[in-house]
Amino acid sequence: MHDPRYARQIVLKEWGTAGQEQLKASRVLLVGLGGLGSPAALYLAAAGVGTLGLIDPDQVDLSNLQRQVLYDTADAGAMKVERAAARLQALNPELQLELYPERFCAANALSICSRYDLIIDGSDNFACKFLVNDVCVKLRKPLVYGSILRWEGQLAVFWAPHGPCYRCLFPEPPKAYVPNCAEAGVIGALAGTLGSLQALEAMKVLVSGMPPYTSELRPLLGRLWLLRSQTMESQTLRIPKNPDCTVCSKPPEEIPLRDEKGFEGCALGLTEVKADDLLPEQAWTQYLCIDVREQVEWDAGHIPGAIHRPLSLLPHSKPGDWPSDERPWLLYCQGGVRSRRAYDILKSQGHTIHGHIQEGFRAWRGPIERASPRA
Ligand SMILES: [Zn+2]
Repeated sequence: MHDPRYARQIVLKEWGTAGQEQLKASRVLLVGLGGLGSPAALYLAAAGVGTLGLIDPDQVDLSNLQRQVLYDTADAGAMKVERAAARLQALNPELQLELYPERFCAANALSICSRYDLIIDGSDNFACKFLVNDVCVKLRKPLVYGSILRWEGQLAVFWAPHGPCYRCLFPEPPKAYVPNCAEAGVIGALAGTLGSLQALEAMKVLVSGMPPYTSELRPLLGRLWLLRSQTMESQTLRIPKNPDCTVCSKPPEEIPLRDEKGFEGCALGLTEVKADDLLPEQAWTQYLCIDVREQVEWDAGHIPGAIHRPLSLLPHSKPGDWPSDERPWLLYCQGGVRSRRAYDILKSQGHTIHGHIQEGFRAWRGPIERASPRA
């Protein structure tokens, strides 16, 4: 009746033929096809999940191959969703695939996630992690969360209203800049471990059905598993449900979906220059200061010697729009958020930027005003 490929799991009493049929009928969405998504996709496809949705906007880069085991050297430059689909289809021709070669964002999150039974978060940035959580809570769908950095990994299953959500654990993205894997580094085999465990938890949820769980198969619902692979110490912590959680304490129709900006994943490699460390004369002798605020803000006051390039116009800027200048570029806005976005845009256009002024013009003007002679 069944493909012999599934024999080793059907023989498990907690799984059986019923579990296999449940898996075959299941639709799983993988958000991100990187270090976590690669092993998760491979094991889900191999185990006989019915349909996999794959969303990732990126192309394969040689720096991915250290941990993203879906791809080969020859795949460099190709779209991840396309190469992943070819690999997974070769592994299991019964698998149905749905491809989204796009960025997961507030505009598409609801329509895409609503088509699946379970979502696996394989993203590498906070903006995406919070959005995945919020949409899963809104849709009352189980979410298998995973995260890796350097030598350490985290794993959890969130499923409102049966347990807490990611925001019960972390209410908001961190205010301070947190480096991501590209900057801080990560061990490929650790990504493989956590991604494989995400596939395992996903299959446990799909085979077990709705909580509460009474059988010996107990998914990591409402619990956080932490692994420090340097020493192989691990911990499982119970995550309390926050009765005042800004997301899972609300009725679904009141949960907003928004794109978080200016956190991890954005402004990678940006140097923070403190305004207090900038002497007034230094600002325009040491750096080419670039003001990315709008006209009305520029007119109300700006750093002497700065050039004005509003953020709203940056996506259309051309190489000829910029002065040839030896000084390193220093971006600033009013409070330090828009300058991070400007950094991402300019970097994508091939410019080299030294950094931005932490907390922007507001912080820069502070010491100047303090230093002004009193009338
Ligand atoms: Zn919550």
